[in-house]
Amino acid sequence: MDFDDSPEEIALRAEVRAWLDEHAVRRDPEALAGMRTYRTRTEAEDEALVAEARAWQRTKADSGWAAPSWPAELGGRDLSPLLAGVFAAEEAHYDVVGRMFTVGTDMVGPTLIEWGTDEQRRHHLPRILRADDIWCQLFSEPGAGSDLAGLSTRALRDGDEWVVTGQKVWTTGAHYSDLGILLARTDPDVPKHRGITAIAVDMRAPGVDVRPLRQIDGTIHFNEVFLDEVRVPVADTIGPVGSGWGVALTMLTNERASIGGGSMYGVDQLVQLARESGRLGDPLIRQRLADMYIRDEILRFLGYRVRTAAASGRPPGPESSVMKLAVSARYEVGGDLMLDIEGAAGALMGDDAPYGGRFQDLFMGQWAPRIGGGTDQVQRNIIGERVLGLPGDIRVDKDVAFRDLPRA
Ligand SMILES: Cc1cc2nc3c(=O)[nH]c(=O)nc-3n(C[C@H](O)[C@H](O)[C@H](O)COP(=O)(O)OP(=O)(O)OC[C@H]3O[C@@H](n4cnc5c(N)ncnc54)[C@H](O)[C@@H]3O)c2cc1C
Repeated sequence: MDFDDSPEEIALRAEVRAWLDEHAVRRDPEALAGMRTYRTRTEAEDEALVAEARAWQRTKADSGWAAPSWPAELGGRDLSPLLAGVFAAEEAHYDVVGRMFTVGTDMVGPTLIEWGTDEQRRHHLPRILRADDIWCQLFSEPGAGSDLAGLSTRALRDGDEWVVTGQKVWTTGAHYSDLGILLARTDPDVPKHRGITAIAVDMRAPGVDVRPLRQIDGTIHFNEVFLDEVRVPVADTIGPVGSGWGVALTMLTNERASIGGGSMYGVDQLVQLARESGRLGDPLIRQRLADMYIRDEILRFLGYRVRTAAASGRPPGPESSVMKLAVSARYEVGGDLMLDIEGAAGALMGDDAPYGGRFQDLFMGQWAPRIGGGTDQVQRNIIGERVLGLPGDIRVDKDVAFRDLPRA
């Protein structure tokens, strides 16, 4: 593919920059003292961040930038994933909370467009655009992460309602979400991929118990969600009963296409950190900074490939797995580098540390992209099988009814 901006991209980038300049403040990559990591530790901080993100989302929605790849008649701009990525990449340079509601805009929205009923689209899409409803993704379970199709949360039909019981985990943002897109087993008598149904669940319904998980750095990002005989109208089923795996694939395709849209920090900030820490003359640090720069350039090009694949309607394949691995490696290498630049001060935490501990936060945040959205090992499996042509994982459970599978 052609890696130079097309005339269309050049024009769009200029339009996006002009709009962002008018509505937001461009971040100064050299102003480390004011750098934000958008990580919250208290309920009050969480509420403030959600309010700020919601206000920004509404500003974008007013101008059609909240979900630029959606059809124009649904509030988007009809942009291809490649062009929509221009907005995300530019937005990352501004001091705004821009990527907090991507489960709604980048994942649930496109899924409803493909699988939802007219009524679901009419009700939910405008509310997603303006963050009137915040969505979370209720997929992973304690016994089903990489092997998502092995999930055991069950939904039993009772008249016009589903009765849902089970446990989800790792649910990003469940503690401030209004709705969750849930995968549940509705038929245990067929092989595991076939008996799953996707359902929209009201996160405040009786029987939904959200328990935040506090991480190593004191922040809360994801949650455990317990569901105890939660009653959900059958009308809130997304897609046909039993087609939840297809719905999940649509969600995951869109999740992978959006990964790498914006970065937590740029190499400019690491260069500035080295400068202010008196390490810019250190040849080994310089070499590692150059390595980071090269990684960022490679990521930029891989991003083009992933979005080009998505634009041509190809399913998630090697491009997105290579991209995902490169993102992981970038955060691993960058996290280690920033604390090495700080030297002994790198071992401090919070307000005792340089810049209020912002680089320590980023260092500890590196494990999120290395696990979330599919682990490094699983990406390597995909590359091994689909690119290198290595023999596939042995899957003995493919044709066995879920009910008959041995489970812990
Ligand atoms: C920051 C973050 C946010 C997340 N947000 C959400 C969310 O909002 N909603 C949601 O549903 N989930 C979410 N997840 C969950 C995420 O999708 C899972 O953590 C991921 O799929 C891995 O599943 P697991 O944690 O159960 O690990 P497991 O699948 O139990 O894997 C454990 C280890 O075994 C390895 N492994 C497993 N299978 C294989 C294999 N076949 N070959 C080689 N190695 C293998 C894995 O790589 C890993 O090292 C989030 C995770 C993170 C880290």
